Amino acid sequence: MTGKILVVEDNELNLKLFCDLLGAHGYKAEPVRDGREAIGKAQAFAPDLIVMDIQMPHISGLELIEQIKADESLRAIPIIAVTAYAAKGDEERIREAGAEAYVSKPISLARFIEEVRGLMKGAPAAVSAPDEDAIQVERSFAVSGQRVFDAWLDAEHVGQWLFATPEGEMVEVRIDPQVGGEYRIVERRGGKDVAHVGRYEAIDPPSRLAFTLAVPALSDQEGRVDISFSGEGEGCTLRLKALGVLPEYRDRTREGWATILDNLARVLEEER
Ligand code: MN
Repeated sequence: MTGKILVVEDNELNLKLFCDLLGAHGYKAEPVRDGREAIGKAQAFAPDLIVMDIQMPHISGLELIEQIKADESLRAIPIIAVTAYAAKGDEERIREAGAEAYVSKPISLARFIEEVRGLMKGAPAAVSAPDEDAIQVERSFAVSGQRVFDAWLDAEHVGQWLFATPEGEMVEVRIDPQVGGEYRIVERRGGKDVAHVGRYEAIDPPSRLAFTLAVPALSDQEGRVDISFSGEGEGCTLRLKALGVLPEYRDRTREGWATILDNLARVLEEER
């Protein structure tokens, strides 16, 4: 049985992001764009969990949470509230209304999924998740998989190729190479600092590396990158999957990663 999740969100991009992300993790997401339809949809769809935006026209998420928790047939459904600006006292008000969990924008997708999983224990996701929102890039290297893998976690190396552009200047590379550890890579482009930040989710040398990725200057969304390394001896194939990429960014993201992998190949091959 696939877990069913009702997503109530007036912002079309956020709605799509949530539904895509939940779908990619094997859940069946049902979108609701108009808060006034939320109660009826909840009764019809009988979800295992509700994701509730707070700031909406016509009716606020706070009111909807109160209504759901006052409804005999709906009150047992756990609710994750999502709010744009965490003002003082917000969390308290949302919890008082009856929400089981609370996340504020910018959303950390990794944290959001953790909350979903925590509240969905009784309704597991499908075993194999589709990757409809993923883009994939593949590249071969003429050096060993171990060397290619190591290049991702060595700060000195990373400064030469990861998120580096020909016109840019790397001003900060901070890496805490452990699962749960964070990284921060800042490049100055035309006088503007662009930070790439995230957290390592899997570090299994020399075969797999996974991390979250956000560029707060460009978007308040967070995506995930999952990389596998395969091959023997002095050759290696790298497959990179980027998840949670909005459709309008897919081409650019694919090109961006292809360029980054070209840079990596150049740096590694120059060292030989
Ligand atoms: Mn909203």
